[in-house]
Amino acid sequence: MRIEEDLKLDFKDVLFRPKRSTLGSRANVELLREYRYRHSGRTSTSVPIVAANMDTVGTFEMSAALARHHLHTALHKHYAVEDYVRFFSDANREAHRLAFYSLGILEPDLEKFRAVRRATGEAIEFVCIDVANGYTETFIDFVRRFRDEFPTLTIMAGNVVTADVTEALILAGADIVKVGIGPGSVCTTRKMTGVGYPQLSAIIECADAAHGLGGHICGDGGCTVPGDVAKAFGGGADFVMLGGMLAAHDESGGEIVERDGRTYRRFYGMSSDVAMKKYAGGVAKYRASEGKEVLLPARGPVENTVQDILGGLRSTCTYVGARKLKDLSKCTTFVRVTQQINEVYGRAD
Ligand code: 5GP
Repeated sequence: MRIEEDLKLDFKDVLFRPKRSTLGSRANVELLREYRYRHSGRTSTSVPIVAANMDTVGTFEMSAALARHHLHTALHKHYAVEDYVRFFSDANREAHRLAFYSLGILEPDLEKFRAVRRATGEAIEFVCIDVANGYTETFIDFVRRFRDEFPTLTIMAGNVVTADVTEALILAGADIVKVGIGPGSVCTTRKMTGVGYPQLSAIIECADAAHGLGGHICGDGGCTVPGDVAKAFGGGADFVMLGGMLAAHDESGGEIVERDGRTYRRFYGMSSDVAMKKYAGGVAKYRASEGKEVLLPARGPVENTVQDILGGLRSTCTYVGARKLKDLSKCTTFVRVTQQINEVYGRAD
């Protein structure tokens, strides 16, 4: 047994230190980022925030709404082949250009992807190869074989939280490594397994490893307010994936529930009992559920939430003197704190 004594940080442990700057208005802050990907050789221009590939977040409707602001959506993997084909064949939609097709590493996942790809030609640019535990040889081998078969797709793969496997995944063919084990709002992995890594430190360390190899990372999970999204970018994330912050909107999917005259939407983890019953006929005997279900007050159109997140991010940039999102991590000094928010009148939201 060994204990690592180095301090590891979460979003709640830091704040941005404000800096003098010559920036005028926050309206002038550029949030679009242009990336060139190590393996696919493709480039993209977008606001690099990604809706999570959960069936109560990453829907076609979400993708249409977010694309208006040049944000990405990782589509959940439970649509039928015909539905993906229709979505990716629609040349009029910006949404399909920014959408990630998500898949797991089982043979049926691969077959389904091949079928969609055959029917849609070059329409799919981004894929997200997603497993709960990115530390298995099977996963890394899958990424390698997938890269061989599809040399021009931009591949995001995860999840991991350490530099060693980030490097291994990039060398195996991933363009973007997805980072986060256990920080998610409806994730119970830490409770059930005791495994995890503080998310801000995971982002900082994995970004450093990826950037050294010309790769990118996506911080996935644990953002609860716009300030957390800014901290993820400040720590070096190239992309930030959001589940809970985009859940419970008109576009999120998720069953509507009326209780005591109020409207709620169901939101649940993709490894929760609910999701496994819905898609896999129940939780297999050898495994435990690692996600939970919550009822969230319905939040209306996602447009307002997007404005809040982008507004917060622009404001962070002006406080630290970054003219563009690209400069945010260079301009970032985090201060460690013991308190974040004054909660004397309850949670400020
Ligand atoms: P959030 O933004 O809600 O904090 O986190 C979203 C992320 O949580 C997703 O992108 C995914 O990585 C993770 N996640 C989603 N469902 C589950 C689940 O059932 N179990 C675990 N361990 N993680 C989940």
